[in-house]
Order: sequence, then C-alpha cells, then structure tokens
Amino acid sequence: MAISQKMIAFAERSSWIRKMFEEGAKLKSIHGADNVFDFSLGNPDLPPPAQFATTLQKVAAEAGPGRHSYMPNGGYPFVRAALAAQIGNEQGMTLGEEEILMTVGAAGGLNVILKALLDPGDEVIILAPFFVEYNFYVDNHGGTAKVVNTREDFSLDIAAIEAAIGPKTKAIIINSPNNPTGQIYSADELARLATVLEEAGQPIYLIADEPYRKIVFDDHEVPSIFQAYRHSLVVSSYSKDLSLPGERIGYIAVHPEIADKGPLMGAMTLANRILGFVNAPALMQRVVAELQGVTVDTEIYTRRRELFCKVLREAGYQFVPPKGAFYLFPKSPLADDAEFVGLLAEEKILAVPGRGFGMPGYFRLAFCVEDEVISRAAAGFAAALAAAQQ
Ligand code: PLP
Repeated sequence: MAISQKMIAFAERSSWIRKMFEEGAKLKSIHGADNVFDFSLGNPDLPPPAQFATTLQKVAAEAGPGRHSYMPNGGYPFVRAALAAQIGNEQGMTLGEEEILMTVGAAGGLNVILKALLDPGDEVIILAPFFVEYNFYVDNHGGTAKVVNTREDFSLDIAAIEAAIGPKTKAIIINSPNNPTGQIYSADELARLATVLEEAGQPIYLIADEPYRKIVFDDHEVPSIFQAYRHSLVVSSYSKDLSLPGERIGYIAVHPEIADKGPLMGAMTLANRILGFVNAPALMQRVVAELQGVTVDTEIYTRRRELFCKVLREAGYQFVPPKGAFYLFPKSPLADDAEFVGLLAEEKILAVPGRGFGMPGYFRLAFCVEDEVISRAAAGFAAALAAAQQ
C-alpha cells in the first residue's frame, strides 16, 4: 500500500466520527432526515449574528491596494491590536498586538503552538475525556500524548496530573468549557494546577483551548487562565461563538510574561508559515476585528440545555449538568458504551460513544439542533434505557 501505515492506523482510531456519520446517513435515507435525531455533531446550527453579514459586506466592498496580498505571517497588526483589547478584558490583563497571533481556527492554532514547543519525544498531558484531535496534533509534531483522567464529576484530578509530570513534560492542554463534558474548571482548580506546574522544575506550558468560553449557562463564568499561571497560552476561534467554523478563523494569545516569549512568538509565527497556513484568512481577519464582543444568541443554547437535561432526567439517565459549551456526557446504562449507542440508534437517536473521547462508559450528545428535535427524542431515550435494563 502506497499510503502511510500510520495514517491507516489513525483512520481506524478516529473511526467513531466516521461510523456515526455513516450510520446517520443510512438512517436518514431509510426514515427521512426529519425522523432521525442527530446529536452526533458539534457543528453549530445557529446562524452567525446579524452584524456578521453587514460587516462582511462592508469589509468586502472596501477596495484598496494589497487587501488580498500576503501579510505578516502572524496576521494584520491592526487586527491583532483589536483582539488584544478584547482578550485583555476577558483575561483581566493588559495585552498588546505582540501577544496575539491570528490562526486558521483553534485547530490551526493548536498545531502552531505544538510545532513551536515540541522536540521529538516531548510529552503533552491531555485530560480524558478529550477532544480526540489532540492525540493527532501532538503526534503531528513528534510529541507523545500522556492521558490523565478527570474525576467522576469531570473536575481536574490534580494529584493524577502531578503524578504524570516527568522530565519530558513540555505542556498540558486543558479545554474549558469542555467538549465533551460541558464542565468549566474553577479558579480554585486552576490555582492548584498552577502550583503543581510551578513546582515541576522545568517550565511547563499551559495551553488553554477555549473556543466555548462565551457559551456558558446560568451565572457560570470561565476564570482567567492568565491570572492563574504565567506560562500560559490561550487558543481559540470564532467557530462556536460567532458560528463560523467553516471560515477557519482563530487566534493564539500568550501571557505577557510567559517564558521565552520572544523566541516563542517567533517560532509560532514561523510555524504558521511552514505548516502551510501562511496566514489566517485575510477577509475574515478584517471582519472579526470589527466583531469583538459580539456573540451568537447564547440564550438558545441555554434553553436547549434546560430542555435536554429535563428529557434525560425524566427518562432516568445519570449525568453532570453542563455549565457551558453545547454537549451532554451522560453515563452509559450499559458498561459497553458502543452497544448502548447501538440501542439509541435503534430509536433513530445518534450519539457518540465515550470511548471516542478516551472515556468508555459514557456517550456524548451535542445540542446543535432545534428544540423540537430534543423533545421529540424523549420517547426514544426512555425506550433505549428500558431496553438496556432488560
Ligand atoms: N477544540 C475543541 C475542544 C473543539 O471542540 C474544537 C471543534 O469542535 C476545536 C478545538 C477546533 O475548533 P476550530 O473550528 O476553531 O478549529
């Protein structure tokens, strides 16, 4: 076979997403799309805010030399300055354009950071359940992912993280609000994590993947990473909070006092170039610069979260209610989560087994669907649970 054996193995490891996609397509062709309850994909269904279309039209109409040319690999300086002001507010710290780098989504940003940080064999701690792509991104840059489980309520297991740190640990990735659990790490947890990282003897970089920061429920807040720990980087995007995942626009922000800041920014700028991104899309950079502080109507996600929790609670499922993002991660009533996801599929409900996120025994539901899809699925959730208990 001509293609890489490693890629064949990777395709197998990431097969849950493909399997669910294929299962969904099959069920929809048999029963019609309206009769399938597809909670498998975290693809935001809300339209971008109205300001997006008007800003896009305005920015696209602005003629001028060089508007579609190459630019500095880190992005337009004026765009970086606009983001620095907003992210500085969120993180409670003054930031300048020299602390911001524009990227091709959060995914591009994570690859840029890891390319800049890792030497072959370096270790990166990731926390299960995790966004499955982290494994591939770490491998892309010669690193090894070291998996540490979170606790029963999906909070940080500080002792387990401490035990996982070794001489080769270069970084830890955290994601809050979390995909797939919807949990948010508290300021106290972050402070305890910072203490452990500070005592490690070598600088360990804390990479905070925050694309769901603005999607929070009730009065929950996402604490500042920069206030908690000096050697930290925030990576994020407008995929979720402006519903623009296809436009591939994101950023990295670094703590103003991070270790080796100058060389790190230089390495990340070069990484943006040599990974083939070159720079983040020009038009989208100019658009998001004008949309700082604007978000989709998060009340809609809040309403769906209430509804979905009610449906699952009444059916008898066990779960930790999410504090943010748009996912639920209930316990599978069967030890074999893939088998239970099969029972759900018999009810035309599509979910992803927890093993796809490194945590068997659970399943993930994304609520990127209309409210009525959630309420119409209630009978199916109850029937699948009853079938599992037989
Ligand atoms: N990180 C997490 C936790 C995600 O859930 C996603 C997308 O679903 C990403 C990163 C990638 O986001 P982007 O579309 O900005 O690359």
